[in-house]
Amino acid sequence: MVDRHIPFLSSFLMILAAIQGISAVDYTVTNTASNTPGGVRFDNDIGSEYSLQTLASATDFIWRLFQQTNDADKKNVQKVSLFIDDMDGVAYASNNEIHVSARYINGYTGDLKREITGVIYHEMTHIWQWNGNGETPGGLIEGIADFVRLRSGYVPGHWVQPGQGDKWDQGYDVTARFLDYCNDLRNGFVAELNKKMISGYSANYFVDLLGKSVDQLWSDYKAKYGN
Ligand SMILES: [Zn+2]
Repeated sequence: MVDRHIPFLSSFLMILAAIQGISAVDYTVTNTASNTPGGVRFDNDIGSEYSLQTLASATDFIWRLFQQTNDADKKNVQKVSLFIDDMDGVAYASNNEIHVSARYINGYTGDLKREITGVIYHEMTHIWQWNGNGETPGGLIEGIADFVRLRSGYVPGHWVQPGQGDKWDQGYDVTARFLDYCNDLRNGFVAELNKKMISGYSANYFVDLLGKSVDQLWSDYKAKYGN
C-alpha cells in the first residue's frame, strides 16, 4: 500500500523542484576592494551575508511591484553578481552585475547600511526592468529605478519633495515622484508601463494607461503641488 505511493510522491517532488529551479536566481557578493578603507567598512558595517539577503529581497520586491508572477513575465536572468570596487561614483548595473563604489561607502556619513540597501534596490531594478529595446528615455529608466527605491522605503534625505523638478523625464528622484503620482491615478501603472516596454517605447503609453499625454500629466502634477 505505502510503497505504491512513493513513485507518485517522488515525481511530484521532482516537478516541484523543477518549477522552483526555473525561478531560482543565484547571487554572489565579491569585495574586490577589501584592502581599501571603503572595502573594510563594507565588511564591517554591511557584509556579504546581509548583501546576499538584500539582493534576494530586492528581486522579490521588484517582481511583486512589476506584477511579474510567472517566469514568462520576467527577464531571463539566472545570476546576479554584486561587486564592491575601488572606483569613483556611487554604483552602476550592467551585464547582470551590480558594482558599488568602495570610495562612496568610505565617504558616506549617516546610516550606511540603509543607504546601500537603497542603492541595491535601485540597481537591481536595472537588472529586471524592460528598456523598450533601448528606446526608453534614460530619465524614465532612472525614474523607475528610483520609484522602486521610493516604494521600498529606503529613500535618502536629499531627495526632492513631491511636485519638485523641471521636467517629467529629468530622471531619478524627480521622475520617481512623478511616477508615484501617476501610479496613484492608476494602481499598477508603473508595472503596466514596464510591461509595455518589453519591445519598444512610445510616449503614447501614458495616454493608453492614463488617458492623458505625459506633458498634460506633468502639468497636472505640478499644479497639484502649487508649482
Ligand atoms: Zn540607475
